[in-house]
Amino acid sequence: MTATPDAISASASTGPFWLHVALDVPLDGVFDYQHHEPVLVGQRVIVHFGRRQMIGVVVALPEQPSYPPEQVKSIDQLLDDLPPFPEDWLRMARFASTYYHRPLGEVMMPSLPGPLRKPSAYLGKRSAGGPVLRMAKRKEKKVEPVDSDVLPVLNAEQQAAVDGIVAAKPGSCLLLHGVTGSGKTEVYMRVLEHVLAAGRQVLFMVPEINLTPQFEQVLRARLARVLPGDVLAVLHSGLSEGERLRSWLRVNSGQARILLGTRLSIFTPMPELGLIIVDEEHDTSYKQQDGLRYSARDLAVWRGYDLKVPVVLGSATPSLESWNHARQGRYSLLSLPKRAREVSLPRVRLVDTRHLRLDSGFSPQLLDALEACLDRGEQSLVFINRRGYAPVLHCASCGWLSQCPRCTVYTVLHRQNGFKHNLQCHHCGYQAPVPRACPDCGDQDLQPMGRGTQRIEEFLGERFPNARLVRIDADSTRLKGSAQQLFEQVHAGEVDIMVGTQMVAKGHDFTRLSVVGVLNADATLFAHDFRAPERLFAQLMQVAGRAGRHTEGADVIIQTGYPEQAVYQSLIKHDYIGFAQSALNERESVGLPPFAYQVLLSAEAPQLADAIRLLTQARRLPEDYPNEFPGADQVFLYDPVPLRVLRVAKVERAQLLLESAHRPALQAFVRYWGPQVAQLAKQHKVRITIEVDPLEI
Ligand code: ADP
Ligand code: ZN
Ligand code: ZN
Repeated sequence: MTATPDAISASASTGPFWLHVALDVPLDGVFDYQHHEPVLVGQRVIVHFGRRQMIGVVVALPEQPSYPPEQVKSIDQLLDDLPPFPEDWLRMARFASTYYHRPLGEVMMPSLPGPLRKPSAYLGKRSAGGPVLRMAKRKEKKVEPVDSDVLPVLNAEQQAAVDGIVAAKPGSCLLLHGVTGSGKTEVYMRVLEHVLAAGRQVLFMVPEINLTPQFEQVLRARLARVLPGDVLAVLHSGLSEGERLRSWLRVNSGQARILLGTRLSIFTPMPELGLIIVDEEHDTSYKQQDGLRYSARDLAVWRGYDLKVPVVLGSATPSLESWNHARQGRYSLLSLPKRAREVSLPRVRLVDTRHLRLDSGFSPQLLDALEACLDRGEQSLVFINRRGYAPVLHCASCGWLSQCPRCTVYTVLHRQNGFKHNLQCHHCGYQAPVPRACPDCGDQDLQPMGRGTQRIEEFLGERFPNARLVRIDADSTRLKGSAQQLFEQVHAGEVDIMVGTQMVAKGHDFTRLSVVGVLNADATLFAHDFRAPERLFAQLMQVAGRAGRHTEGADVIIQTGYPEQAVYQSLIKHDYIGFAQSALNERESVGLPPFAYQVLLSAEAPQLADAIRLLTQARRLPEDYPNEFPGADQVFLYDPVPLRVLRVAKVERAQLLLESAHRPALQAFVRYWGPQVAQLAKQHKVRITIEVDPLEI
């Protein structure tokens, strides 16, 4: 190390300088390093960790290292291609780390675009000054103003919502409850223009990648009216690393004024953030299901509160958590009770399938409605939340069912390109050809059982040979850009009948759609999960809401064997409030969320017995040492149970649920208990995950 005399006299202290660095490793805490020059909190550094080189973030500058100075390694390189991460970003990462019980580095680093956290992007001959510099040399994308129409005149409720948001108390959360087609988007746009004009940035979150093109178009048209140049950035996991980095840098530098993105965008530093919008806030896609299991919606509420900027949660079917907050006055409620265009909500009909003879899963009522819709030259949608050809292959003579050899689930029959079929496991990705004969009895008559989107599409093709059909599901949209292409065909009126999964159910503003048919809704009705009715209600309300958005007289037909169920009865009345009220009463009476808080400990091992043993010991810890566990008297630990899908990819899984009426007690308990369980798990070679506020239990 050679320090120039100038540098020494210029700085008050002369080093070494001690750093705490957060690294993406599954170990609690932060790591000590030193450097010969002053470093700022929020800067990135390349360090050696064991034999590996990694990029980490400097999160503190302690006076003294945590252990003898001679053992503290020097960093390899200080990265100064970005300004240090802002304070508020570090605060949010710290909050998420504490709240979700996850090491700080495992929160921070995965949230960054790949090139910013890979040492290889900076080291070696080809790094050419690092990814940020290389990106800066790229040309700006030119945007043409997209030709916007005259803006609609807001109705009284929309105006009241806009006024309410603009005048909101700093840091407050507002729940915009608007029926489908009530013009929530227009409300967002007006508020957003206001915030942009005040020189602040906006974070606009949507639940699905598929919804980004639609909103991108709407936003670009609007932005062209308020701000010159390209001020919109889009962020989601479908982008290439380069595209993601570019968006991130433009937002981080303040050059982009709006960030439109899916859940991961909540972690983007935004120096002038002035508003957060979470559209379709009830959507479970806001919950990350692996790694850091965060809720982007909940983090948005926290971030708004922390930054003293308003957060708008919008939905036609708010989550019961948010609805309860609004009911209790913690969120302000803004309501749009009617559709924005002069059209009524679609008529929702239940077709009782118990006494009907179905034709390939279709009731005569639904087939008639589809036919009439075709004759009128309008579009229809057949919704079935099951992709593939059939959920299982079946031998009629011995009862054999196609099963995944690695998981405790059936393999799904899929039609491949052309007419070849194969079997696929939706849990582990296993694929196999269709056996020529039953593996158990040798019978050659194997039959598909049940129906998925492909089989429905096939049937409709035969039934309505002149109809232009399109299937929209995870299989038909695997290629980048293909979903957008299919939706464009629909919007352009080149499609008569859509067959689709939940991908088509949300958010889209279809103009020509006037019939929606729902098949197989009952499948989720009796799921074990206490949130199943809530999810089903939201999903059906959303899919019904795609119909008749621009024209009168739309029809929604739901086929069910249980028409008397509360979910369906509320649905035909479009009665979210009634549904929410009774569901909340029920939850309150049995002490379920949102009237209790939960943490889920899952364990995975090759043998179920090992997973259960670990969980049993974990459960016993506070019983064995009752005085050591803070909050223990207020936390209830259930019995360990195997997961419903017990085995996935040859790993067996079990879980232990923790519950408390007091969030702080539960948090304090897990803070102490979690690391001890982790220790046990290590000894037993069992993999565990701790999930706070689980959505599926
Ligand atoms: P939501 O998001 O609430 O489901 P949208 O924002 O997509 O509904 O609005 C539904 C339709 O109503 C859109 O086509 C939109 O252009 C139109 N719209 C919104 N506000 C108005 C208004 N004040 N007057 C007329 N049409 C409107
Ligand atoms: Zn058989
Ligand atoms: Zn499998």
